[in-house]
Amino acid sequence: MTGESDATPNNFIRQMIEKDVANNKHNKLVATRFPPEPNGYLHLGHAKSICLNFGIAEEFDGWTNLRFDDTNPDKESEEYMAAIKRDVSWLGFEWKSLCYASDYFDQLYDYAVQLVKDNLAYVDSLSSEEIRTYRGSLTEAGQPSPYRNRSPEQSLELLEGMKKGDFEEGEHVLRLKIDMASSNINMRDPAIYRIKKTHHYRTGDKWNIYPLYDYTHCLSDAIEGITHSLCTLEFEDHRPLYNWVLENTGPPGKPEQTEFGPLNLEYTVLSKRKLIQLVTSGVVDGWDDPRLPTIAGLRRRGYTPAAIKEFCNRIGVTKSAAVIEMQVLENCIRDELNETAPRRMAVLDPLKVVITTWPQDDIETLTVANHPNQPEMGSRNIQFGRELYIERSDFEEVPPPKFKRLISGGEVRLRSAYVIKCDQIIKDDEGNIIELHCSHDPDTLGKKPEGRKVKGVIHWVSARDGINSQIKVYDRLFNRPDPLAADDFTEALNPDSLTVYDSAVVEPSLKGEVAGARFQFERQGYFVIDTASTPEQPVVNRVVSLKDNW
Ligand code: ATP
Ligand code: MG
Repeated sequence: MTGESDATPNNFIRQMIEKDVANNKHNKLVATRFPPEPNGYLHLGHAKSICLNFGIAEEFDGWTNLRFDDTNPDKESEEYMAAIKRDVSWLGFEWKSLCYASDYFDQLYDYAVQLVKDNLAYVDSLSSEEIRTYRGSLTEAGQPSPYRNRSPEQSLELLEGMKKGDFEEGEHVLRLKIDMASSNINMRDPAIYRIKKTHHYRTGDKWNIYPLYDYTHCLSDAIEGITHSLCTLEFEDHRPLYNWVLENTGPPGKPEQTEFGPLNLEYTVLSKRKLIQLVTSGVVDGWDDPRLPTIAGLRRRGYTPAAIKEFCNRIGVTKSAAVIEMQVLENCIRDELNETAPRRMAVLDPLKVVITTWPQDDIETLTVANHPNQPEMGSRNIQFGRELYIERSDFEEVPPPKFKRLISGGEVRLRSAYVIKCDQIIKDDEGNIIELHCSHDPDTLGKKPEGRKVKGVIHWVSARDGINSQIKVYDRLFNRPDPLAADDFTEALNPDSLTVYDSAVVEPSLKGEVAGARFQFERQGYFVIDTASTPEQPVVNRVVSLKDNW
């Protein structure tokens, strides 16, 4: 791939881990995890985290677990888990163990009981509203709950009751007893269990209480023997809590949390919560809509795992949040497909051309290279005949200045074939152009025309042999780089993010191509055969334009 960055990305996390290994920390083990909540499909931000976690463990001969952080049964589903597994595998990574936070529910509960016995946790019976008020703010210290001094025995009894289902949701929570005056709000007696009487797809109806993220995450890391727990910046202020829980429960492992800047990408949104809105409201065609920044959407759009990994290499990993331009992503797939995609011709919006100088039933077979500078990619045959299609936009009756394509009375070269001249424009009763009558110069096949310059070259497809195809051209999903800055991000949707060409015509060689096959359509961009394709009618997605149009 041209422009490929260094194979081993260097960044502050890698440097830290290199030092840890050199210092014999964690017995030189590098064990990481990728811990998605199965409440939606993975997006490009997750790809950054996946590449970092799996990539770094691979480099240091360690391992990575895929762990479902499945502590909120309201929003999670097995469909999401299956999609997440598929996406991680598709990116080319292998997890050591497939883990579920719910597998640790018994252990987590035992630790909680011990915390209560040690007078480090208590059951609070304030309402969530009151808890919020008592918590204080960034400038005000919090106030202790009147229930803070409940005896461990009382708390333990209530906790048992919460677990058994004796209470309604919201009646009680279990809180850590840390410091209501802490300058870090996360340390002001955070709740670690809440009552939730929801069926869980793995633990069934066993639990009426579910542990919260901050409590679950650090303990899951420790239980699995994770050494380096890499997460995004918003958890920086949670690190003291992460460490507090581990110090006060004493699980076997000693993981360490390190934060890095999350990925943000212009003209799109990277948040499952936002993406789910677009999917459920039908604004897009499912989680794998090729306009979405989901891994499934990018796959359907024609991105390769290599291009996504290359993107993660190019953006790097830093301590601060970065907003990346869309071109950075697009250039990764463009650079790859420029090398690897066979060339084809396709006409999106066809205009018929009749070569009046060509005998009615004559067909000439032309052999055309599949790639301009990769002879090993071979060649294919295309048919030249009396009737052809060209792109409607390649002809102008009233051409703008410097128009180098076909005009009335002008000449143009048909790619890999003859020079033709437009002799006559045929219109319907309403004045729409329906056909062009042209003549060809038989001496121009593979040769320059005698005594004159023909600058323009346009693509074409034989009308007799071309096959009808539906071609979908995508544009940015949002019309502003920062859709989340709008009052309502759905107001920033680009109404022209999809253009469908239903009467497109492609070379017959595309018949029977399977979903995922990628091509360059000459002069148009890179394209991929869509999963909705049939043997009769290919459906083709544009991956990316040849050059950046924005
Ligand atoms: P979302 O807001 O999209 O739901 P999340 O952080 O809630 O994202 P999780 O399923 O909890 O989603 O994420 C799993 C892992 O992916 C976490 O370790 C998280 O830090 C990481 N991650 C999520 N979004 C990004 C991002 N934009 N850039 C880098 N890493 C991310
Ligand atoms: Mg989350």
